[in-house]
Amino acid sequence: MSTFVYDFAEGNKDQKDLLGGKGANLAEMTNLGLPVPPGFTITTEACRAYLAAEESRDHATPGDGGAHGALPDGLAEEITEHLERLEETMGKKLGQADDPLLVSVRSGAAASMPGMMETVLNVGLNDESVQGLARQSDSERFAWDSYRRLLSMFGRTVLGIDGDLFEEALEQRKEKAGVEADLELGAEDLQGLVRGYQEIIEEHSGRPFPQDPREQLDLAVLAVFGSWNTERAILYRRQERIPADLGTAVNICSMVFGNLGDDSGTGVAFTRDPASGAQGIYGDYLQNAQGEDVVAGIRNTVPLADLEGIDKTSYDELLGIMQRLEEHYLDLCDIEFTIERGKLWMLQTRIGKRTPGAAFRIAGQLVDQGLIDLDEALHRVTGAQLAQLMFPQFDPAADRELLTKGMNASPGAAVGKAVFDSETAVEWAGKGEKVILVRRETTPDDLHGMVAATGVLTSRGGKTSHAAVVARGMGRTCVCGADALDVDVRAGHFSAPDGVVIEEGDEISIDGTTGEVFRGSVPVMDSAVVRWFEGEADSDEDDLVAAVARLMEHADGVRRLGVRANADNPADASRSRRFGAQGIGLCRTEHMFLGERRELVEHLILARSDEERDEALAALLPHQRDDFTGILEAMDGLPVTIRLLDPPLHEFLPGLTELSMKVAVADATGRPSKRDARLLTAVKRMHEENPMLGLRGVRLGIVIPGLFTMQARAILEAAAARKQAGGDPRPEIMIPLVAAVQELELVKTDIIEVAREVEQETGVDLEFKVGTMIELPRAAMTADEIAEAAEFFSFGTNDLTQMTWGFSRDDVEAAFFSQYLEKGIFGVSPFESLDQAGVGALVQQAVERGRATRPDLHLGVCGEHGGDPDSIHFFERAGLDYVSCSPFRVPVARLEAGRAVADRGASGD
Ligand code: ADP
Ligand code: MG
Ligand code: MG
Repeated sequence: MSTFVYDFAEGNKDQKDLLGGKGANLAEMTNLGLPVPPGFTITTEACRAYLAAEESRDHATPGDGGAHGALPDGLAEEITEHLERLEETMGKKLGQADDPLLVSVRSGAAASMPGMMETVLNVGLNDESVQGLARQSDSERFAWDSYRRLLSMFGRTVLGIDGDLFEEALEQRKEKAGVEADLELGAEDLQGLVRGYQEIIEEHSGRPFPQDPREQLDLAVLAVFGSWNTERAILYRRQERIPADLGTAVNICSMVFGNLGDDSGTGVAFTRDPASGAQGIYGDYLQNAQGEDVVAGIRNTVPLADLEGIDKTSYDELLGIMQRLEEHYLDLCDIEFTIERGKLWMLQTRIGKRTPGAAFRIAGQLVDQGLIDLDEALHRVTGAQLAQLMFPQFDPAADRELLTKGMNASPGAAVGKAVFDSETAVEWAGKGEKVILVRRETTPDDLHGMVAATGVLTSRGGKTSHAAVVARGMGRTCVCGADALDVDVRAGHFSAPDGVVIEEGDEISIDGTTGEVFRGSVPVMDSAVVRWFEGEADSDEDDLVAAVARLMEHADGVRRLGVRANADNPADASRSRRFGAQGIGLCRTEHMFLGERRELVEHLILARSDEERDEALAALLPHQRDDFTGILEAMDGLPVTIRLLDPPLHEFLPGLTELSMKVAVADATGRPSKRDARLLTAVKRMHEENPMLGLRGVRLGIVIPGLFTMQARAILEAAAARKQAGGDPRPEIMIPLVAAVQELELVKTDIIEVAREVEQETGVDLEFKVGTMIELPRAAMTADEIAEAAEFFSFGTNDLTQMTWGFSRDDVEAAFFSQYLEKGIFGVSPFESLDQAGVGALVQQAVERGRATRPDLHLGVCGEHGGDPDSIHFFERAGLDYVSCSPFRVPVARLEAGRAVADRGASGD
């Protein structure tokens, strides 16, 4: 049988999964010899056992937070055993009438879920022991204050009674006593309040408040177990992607009292500023207070530094402990403490949350202090934090009027005129206005509005709502779930809590990184980190930039994965090079067929003879060659992977409806255009039910003679020209959508032929590679055959995801992804982060098979997953040679590639 209960002295900080974060750290502090009130921890395993029994007992009513059922087998006995030991240590019994031992019953899961689950203080008080407490402490007021706190916490948390009832009773009592603050209530007022609370409990739970201390304890433990499954906890876990089945531990901790008078109090402290990372004394302190009073904002706290003047001995001791904790945890710690009549007690510590900027600064400081090395420092920051530092930001010095704060669903800083429907968004954006689409929530019908808007603001829904999922997918700034806003779409306005009303056309600013919503237009500035990447600022101008630069350098030094960029034009190519790209992993050529060149594509499609087709291709050739020359020049000396034309040709033609109308109107007005009529026939002929699965990629190259050879010629002529100009071009020709080696062989033979011609014509020796994308399951499965003809593979994980799941991103993301996320079918969109079990398995398969045929096969990935942190760690493990992503994500990929290597070292695989 497993052990369900551990004494604080029996655990340590690495046992978070079993003891929860709070329990593990209480154990660690106990073993460091710090003043922690004695206690014990009931494991998460016990919680899981309880929840499993709950579920099989009652399928119909999922947990509502109240306590049902019973403790798992054996738990009650173990609690008894540990409780007796605790009573021995403390020299008093739980709830003992003349001198009661009181305990807190505290939730604490492995992952931090701030404010999500419950804690009950002062367990063990009843109508008798409250008298004992009063005598022992020599304070009637204190005893009744503690009791009323127990009653309200127990009533709310354990018995599921609406907390407002207790709040109202407190307010009434204050009014009656003619006082403002709870502190001014005397012992008698508080005693009256206790009676009132007991009535509320009896009325709303149908039974009197349990007087038996042990029954209080057991019920509180069950309630903490049950609080794992409150609606808000479930919601929070879904948003933070915390697994639903971990359960919470429960800590039973002997009470210490900050509410014993002015020589007592409670506070929170940080060993460094979590906002900036600066070292100093950060925290808040509140005299004569207990538990959550500090953060509840019921009275004004004083800055922690003021504690020096209030209680110098405790202050000095606290500072000493803070330093010890930092040196022990080697990181920013946050701390809860209480002072009871001049004696300091530590109630909690954990590695503190911090802003992205603070994360980089602190990592650097810890290295400077010799506390950690640079490898470890890489683990203290994430690519996601770096990405946040790279978004444009609202100028911190600028004036702003905060309207409200919602959820930070998709990062960035967006300013625009508020519009309340998609039609207006599209219309105004079409006139060059910047708009922010404001909705209660979005639906698939809002897609065109979201595309047109610079930002999206909703008053409902969380981070997996439609608005959030779609905005992230398209890189739009989004704040969602700003539920303090009253959005009236019909009337075309919304109102904020202070009565401010924003009408259609009024400017607002939204910060997708913080969730803040501002009135008016707040000036936006480029991030300092980006200016440094761009070479516009020195790294020593700013301590944040210096910290980032140092870790980037280290990541580059340790990483094995190369990082390339997806870039289609010289400007993007140059930028990605400044951002540290080591080549181009994907240069798409379809953009080169748009604009004025669309007409040339029409000629190609409408060609009625080989001559006409050749003419059309010949007209495209010089344009393509110029494009490639520019890109090869920008990336001189670095590999440039150019993908031959991928999308179906009809994408370059006018839409069927539009063209039909045009032809019909022309016919009706007696001015028919022959060309349009022919075009219409072509559009009809080329129409596909499923274009994604139709005539595209290598299939085009095979079906339209001369198309791929024209593109290959343009690439190779550009390379020859660059060489003649003294450059070092390194083109890699990539064939898309190959499913069978035969396809690749056909196209490759033609390309080699063209290369020979170009070499003869120019007298230049050409070096280039021919390879393929792996983006179809069949290609992955037959990678051994395909590697016979391919010198490199580049995994097109966007298409590979679509083809593996059998859904088209453009269609499904807006249509049902938010429901899939809500229902937990996947925790994150497979387009955001690689589906490692499915798509990842195909990648691994292809790597193995491809390398079996050709050991020096060069392997990369060019889907957007190449810039996603989790996916990059997977690609490192899969043994790819490089990842490629959009220029802006190149630094993130460099950092994560470095972290991925350090990971491998740490886990030993
Ligand atoms: P949370 O996880 O929400 O911080 P805690 O379990 O830490 O909840 O407890 C809530 C509050 O009660 C905190 O301020 C904590 O410091 C205080 N508290 C918890 N246990 C005790 C105790 N044994 N004595 C005094 N205060 C306590
Ligand atoms: Mg706490
Ligand atoms: Mg593709």
